[in-house]
Amino acid sequence: MPKINITDVILRDAHQSLLATRMRTEDMLPICPKLDAIGYWSLECWGGATFDACVRFLKEDPWERLRKLREALPNTRLQMLLRGQNLLGYRHYSDDVVRAFVHRAADNGMDVFRIFDALNDLRNLKTAIEATKAAEKHAQGTICYTVSPVHDVPGFVRMGKELAAMGCDSIAIKDMAGLLTPYVTAELVKALKDSVDLPLHLHSHATSGLADMCHLKAVENGCDTIDTAISSMAGGTSHPPTESMVAALRGTEHDTGLDLEAIQEIGMYFYQVRKKYHQFESEFTGVDTRVQVNQVPGGMISNLANQLKEQNAIDRMSAVLEEIPRVRKDLGYPPLVTPTSQIVGTQAVLNVLTEKRYQTITNEVKLYLQGRYGSAPAPVNPTLQQQAIGKEELIDCRPADLLKPELDRLTKDIGPLAGSDEDVLTFAMFPEIGRAFLEQRAAGTLQPEPLEAPKTATSEVKSAPTEFKINVHGETYHIKVTGAGHKEQAERHFYFTIDDIPEEVVVETLDELVLTGGTEGAVKKAIAGKRPKPSQPGHVTTSMPGNIVEVLVEEGDTVTAGQSVLVTEAMKMETEIQAPIDGTVTGVYVSKGDAVNPDEVLLEISA
Ligand code: MN
Repeated sequence: MPKINITDVILRDAHQSLLATRMRTEDMLPICPKLDAIGYWSLECWGGATFDACVRFLKEDPWERLRKLREALPNTRLQMLLRGQNLLGYRHYSDDVVRAFVHRAADNGMDVFRIFDALNDLRNLKTAIEATKAAEKHAQGTICYTVSPVHDVPGFVRMGKELAAMGCDSIAIKDMAGLLTPYVTAELVKALKDSVDLPLHLHSHATSGLADMCHLKAVENGCDTIDTAISSMAGGTSHPPTESMVAALRGTEHDTGLDLEAIQEIGMYFYQVRKKYHQFESEFTGVDTRVQVNQVPGGMISNLANQLKEQNAIDRMSAVLEEIPRVRKDLGYPPLVTPTSQIVGTQAVLNVLTEKRYQTITNEVKLYLQGRYGSAPAPVNPTLQQQAIGKEELIDCRPADLLKPELDRLTKDIGPLAGSDEDVLTFAMFPEIGRAFLEQRAAGTLQPEPLEAPKTATSEVKSAPTEFKINVHGETYHIKVTGAGHKEQAERHFYFTIDDIPEEVVVETLDELVLTGGTEGAVKKAIAGKRPKPSQPGHVTTSMPGNIVEVLVEEGDTVTAGQSVLVTEAMKMETEIQAPIDGTVTGVYVSKGDAVNPDEVLLEISA
């Protein structure tokens, strides 16, 4: 019998931490027979970000992914990360939605539910734990580890005891930012094992270079299961390498019993897969000890880096990392994990980019300060709270107690676009992108975002020009073919750039007409949206790239300075944009759903 169990996070957290969660199901399935034979305690394969990326970027049905993985991994427990009452979304759901979601996930093949709340407010775990038990699955209660003036080992032990009392089957320490140090791990693990009679799991990110040592200390002090990632996608913002931990413990009383050679074959497979996603590699995936100061989790750093890169503001990364602890203190030291990491991160980005702290406050920060996410670990900044919520009331009950059942309404809202309860839940998690996904699926137009050519891909397009200019509808575009998949593939990938923007098409047969058709589609996409550049005080702009959620005014409306005129969404957070001056709306350049950038005029107001 192995003394130490392994949960491999290769199918979830590894690519979430290193590749912005972009690994496609097509790259998971071929290796599943080998993964299934290893003898892992579980394979983590599902969570909020994987679900989101499937619907938002990959245009895959996340439920279909789960069913395919279930089929391909018949002998291994499948594990998911669940955000308590937030499920996989970014708000609190009513209890009926929570129960429906857990039951659907269980029926589609999920075995282990690792349930957490970003504020460690256990009231937000209650319904999900009960639903998991009702579905006869494994409920793992989670302690989000963080460091602050109000967090300590006795407090985490109290949480562990409460989770046991709530009926959890095991306890996880979730060190999402890589904040644990080896000797603190030893103390925490020992204290938990001494007071809570449940199996203990450790999930720790390697960001600060300490996680391998933390794992060893945890093992020595009675931890039962450790989370690792296949080595070719381990380290840095990801996790300790599976092969290294297996080797470290081999021949000791803590031997995992796993076959190192077999795991290494899997490592070589993902070494190749990783190249395909090179465009999503963050610059911030190496060892970064700043996390011991700024406490920003790995996934959050790579998302912030991508976000800042999109608006050519990557040079502000250090300023944002310095701003995050300030915002966190103002919010009463929440652990930084979804959704608090986005709430704190987006507000920090806004504070840096607008150059005046809290000039713009996101709706989520406002809701947080009202108590709508639960109770903060420590008192929040009262001045900021007053500024954000004005005369609206504070909440101190379990936030979901205020929510009426909403499953019927959601089912009605999405209507016939939903072909199953699972579709309704996809829509419930992501109202905007979920609906768009279901619409595109119905129309047969689902298309994954393009990938850049793998650096190893060779261009096999020899009989046609590979770089040329074309004129479509009076506009000239510079096209450059950058690579192509193998000729033998039934569905062949072609990679090219249009005015330096990477595009990808998949064609079924190698035929120049088919290639041209795909190119035209991509050109049409590139033509969309040309807005004027801002130059006047009445030009309304966004401080971050994002999408328009709501246009609150029409042409001809009279507005006053400070009045909300637009709602945008960036980094999954909604922000209201206010009129900069008094006047009349003389131009509306956006509509709901548009992607917008800071260098464009969204609305024009004339004094
Ligand atoms: Mn993690």
